Amino acid sequence: MAIPFVDLALLHAPIQGEIDRAIAAVLADGQYVLGGALTAFERAFADACGVAHGVGMGCGTDAIALGLQALGVGPGQEVILPANTFVATLIGVVRSGATPILVDCDPATGLMDLDQTAAAMGDRTGALLPVHLYGQMVSPTALLDLVRDRDVVLFEDAAQAHLAEREGHRAGSLGDGAAFSFFPSKNLGSFGDGGLFLTPHDSAAATARSLRNYGAPRKYYHADRGTNSRLDSIQAAVLSVKLPHLQHWNQQRNAAAATYDRLLAPLADAGITPLINRSGSGHVYHLYPIRVRPCDRFDRDRLQSTLEAQGIATGIHYPIPCHLQPAYADLGYGPGHFPHAEALAEQLLSLPMYPGIPDAALEQVAQAIAAAALG
Ligand SMILES: *Cc1c(COP(=O)(O)O)cnc(C)c1O
Repeated sequence: MAIPFVDLALLHAPIQGEIDRAIAAVLADGQYVLGGALTAFERAFADACGVAHGVGMGCGTDAIALGLQALGVGPGQEVILPANTFVATLIGVVRSGATPILVDCDPATGLMDLDQTAAAMGDRTGALLPVHLYGQMVSPTALLDLVRDRDVVLFEDAAQAHLAEREGHRAGSLGDGAAFSFFPSKNLGSFGDGGLFLTPHDSAAATARSLRNYGAPRKYYHADRGTNSRLDSIQAAVLSVKLPHLQHWNQQRNAAAATYDRLLAPLADAGITPLINRSGSGHVYHLYPIRVRPCDRFDRDRLQSTLEAQGIATGIHYPIPCHLQPAYADLGYGPGHFPHAEALAEQLLSLPMYPGIPDAALEQVAQAIAAAALG
């Protein structure tokens, strides 16, 4: 059978009636931008994460840019982030006006290297921006140690980690701010673009609400240099219907990952290894990447083509690390700067992963990989 990379129709089918009614209610209510449906979702999502304030934005990228701005991070300050994230993290920092400082990753997990992070911290450091990549949190205790007694903002990019947990902490609740994305394929996705900024600080929340609304804390009075970036009421209503199911969907992802781990374990000697889960059931597996070490018989790209030919869809997250993207050449980085990020860009392959993926699909994927790897 053909195996898709994600299956949103499967996810939505059981709750389609509820979604239709929620959309119809917004259409009837007439408040399509800002208003009750948005406020209700902001409250529900912030409560689910255990944080005081949620501010819906037009997308996750804006939640990073405007969130940093609301926390006072900007020009003249440095923000430390991993080189191997989705480029939107970097875009958010650049748009805040702060200077991005990239660091390499731990090749076992793909997560930001915290020794390099510590070494990069200095007088100009305005914020640490860990990315909970692929659904696993960067160690909360280690991050909290890094910012303890320092005037440095801790801002989580949790766009791939809705409700992830590690060491007793929930994603988005660690520090001064966090950004989430509700792009359709994220663990919690809307029917378009959407994002949200979480913060425990009353003043940053108020500023963020102003920034997303032309910088106007009250109508036609522009106290801040803002923009237009709101989470649509229709999207908020859809997300409110989906949120109560999120924990179960995450558990299904985690169970599917455990099955992949077991099925793929015999391929370690052939150079095929999943990234390491250090969070147990707190890993929410937005993606399930495996590392494919190249040999004479196969490499990542050839394995991808082989699977494609059998109807198995895969993805590459991400083929070019941030420091090698042409648009950011002026940051001054080049090939060789972040060897682990560069190796993972060449060797990671994301396997089909979605809530409800059948065991038979997991077995078919694992068998296809084993046949390619073991010959
Ligand atoms: C998706 C994503 C974003 C950006 O979110 P958008 O809603 O697409 O703007 C930021 N960071 C990471 C790690 C992401 O995966």
